[in-house]
Order: sequence, then C-alpha cells, then structure tokens
Amino acid sequence: MGLIGLLIAGCTSPAVPPTPSTVVPTYTPIPTIPRLSYPHTPTPPHSHVPAVPTSRPTSTVPPTVTRLLPTATSIASSGGVTITVLYDNNAYDERLETAWGFSCLVEGPEKRILFDTGGDGGSESEGGSESEGRLLRNMRALAVDPQDVDVIVISHVHGDHVGGLAGFLRENHAVTVYLPQSFPESIKDATRDAGAELVEVHGPVEICEHVISTGELGTLSSAPWLKEQALVVETSRGLVVITGCAHPGIVDIVRQAKTLADGEVYLVLGGFHLGGTSAVEVHSIVEEFQQLGVQRVAPCHCSGDTARRLFGEAYGDDFIPVGVGSRVQVAD
Ligand SMILES: [Zn+2]
Ligand SMILES: [Zn+2]
Repeated sequence: MGLIGLLIAGCTSPAVPPTPSTVVPTYTPIPTIPRLSYPHTPTPPHSHVPAVPTSRPTSTVPPTVTRLLPTATSIASSGGVTITVLYDNNAYDERLETAWGFSCLVEGPEKRILFDTGGDGGSESEGGSESEGRLLRNMRALAVDPQDVDVIVISHVHGDHVGGLAGFLRENHAVTVYLPQSFPESIKDATRDAGAELVEVHGPVEICEHVISTGELGTLSSAPWLKEQALVVETSRGLVVITGCAHPGIVDIVRQAKTLADGEVYLVLGGFHLGGTSAVEVHSIVEEFQQLGVQRVAPCHCSGDTARRLFGEAYGDDFIPVGVGSRVQVAD
C-alpha cells in the first residue's frame, strides 16, 4: 500500500468505525528530489498513519501570510453565507450517499470554498474510464457544479478528509488548494501535478475577504505530525467556525477563532471529535462553549452520538442537526 493509501485509514471514532475504502486515490509518483533533513520529527506510533513529512524542499514553501480579519465594523457588508454538507457519516438527505468523512461547500463569501473532500475520490483507470467518488456524486445530486468551486481547504491529512481531493482535481483543477504545511510532500506534489495552485498554510492566513484559516493547530504528543486548520467565516451574525475533525480540541479551535477575528462566535459546524468522550467531559465542553459565547452548534462527522445529544439538550433550538445534504444558511 502506498503512502496515499495509508492515509485512507483516517480519523476514527470508537462509536462509528470508518467505512472501509475500496478505492485508493491515485497520485502520480514523483521523482525523488533533494530534501533537507527536518530535525526532531519522530516516527508516528501507528502503522496506519501517514509518514511524517521528514523533509521539505526549501524552494517550494511559499511564505505564509498572517493577516487578520477586518474589524467588526465591516461585518455588515459580508452578506449571507450558506454551508452545504456534501459528505458526512450522518444521514440527512436520503438521495445522498452517507460515508465516514466530511466535506462541505461554503458559499457567500468572495470565493466558493470546498472545505475537505471526504474519503472517496473515485478512481481513474488506464483505459480512460473512471469511477466517480461519493463526493462528486453527492455534489451532482445536489446540483452543485464542481466547476464553480474556486478554493479547496483541507483541514488535515486523514484520508476521510483528503481522500476525495485527487478525484475532485480530475474534475476541476482550476482551483487554489490550501494544505497544512505539515502535509507529506507527495500530496503537495500531486496537487501541483494535477494543475492546481498550492498554498501551504502554517500560520493564520486569509483565504478571501471575510474568510481565514486558523493556520496549523495541534500539539498532540501522541501525534505531533497531526496538524489541522479550521475555517473562520465572518458573517453579519458573527463568526462561523468550520472544523474537520477538531483533533487539536474543539474548544481550543473556537478560542483560536476568537483571537483571530472580532465578534462573537455565531456557529460552530463540523467534526467535534468527541466520539469517545464521556458524557461528563462532553458536559464540561458544552459549558465551555456557552462561556465562550458560542450561539449555535452543528456537530457532525466525528462528534459522536453522545455529544450530539448533549449539545442538543443544552442548545435547544440553537442546535442544528446536520448530516450529508444539509444546507445551513446564515442570513445577512
Ligand atoms: Zn475525520
Ligand atoms: Zn482526523
């Protein structure tokens, strides 16, 4: 199994095992290039995790731009935002396929942003025929044209978030792809080889007007290579925080969002990574959310049934039950 195949294992939840992937995204092998050694990068502890990016060519790392959102006074001009969940392990729209992973489309800001790509990118055969992955099938079922996507942001390296990238780029490579800088060089090179523009993200960076990435977060001692970025969208209602798996901790991500942008947090949507978390711990996280002033929540993907239930009880009408096919509109 190649490196990309190893990525398919993805982030798992004790409550909901990942759907086994039978299709491995195909990336063109790249020639060996001289690399500088990158100190202090221990070997990942598990065989299913991706190889640590032990090196990176200095010439291919563009400078990251640290730019904060405009002040709150400009929020009123940002317009409404619609988030469409394209890939999730929670069912919602019965026309769509449900599978372990996450992807959503963010519309309303200057750019149309595909955040994560789910776990199934289809396959490309040598004969020219190819099977389309679930992400593209779900997009078509929702009448979402892949050609309309301007930007792709991948939260982290697990296969249930990056697995659909190669298949999507076969459909539309005229996009800018924001990958965490810590990604393996093989994925970065495959992204460039597919024809997309690559931006490596380390610190916070502006994606477009009113949208930023938190930059790479995460200091897991068990997986120091696992860095994750989240999206922060500025709306007239407040900040919308969109997470992939929240491996760095969902509360820490919300805190980071608040330090990067003015205004209160209106909505947190995505994977909260609480599938194996006890009810007692979830209760304390709910309390922290409320203390941080998070107004609405939409946990899905790896959030876990217990967390979804407890957030639902605490937030009442401000809990948004989402699954694949959900459209969450944040009105202007
Ligand atoms: Zn995940
Ligand atoms: Zn993950």
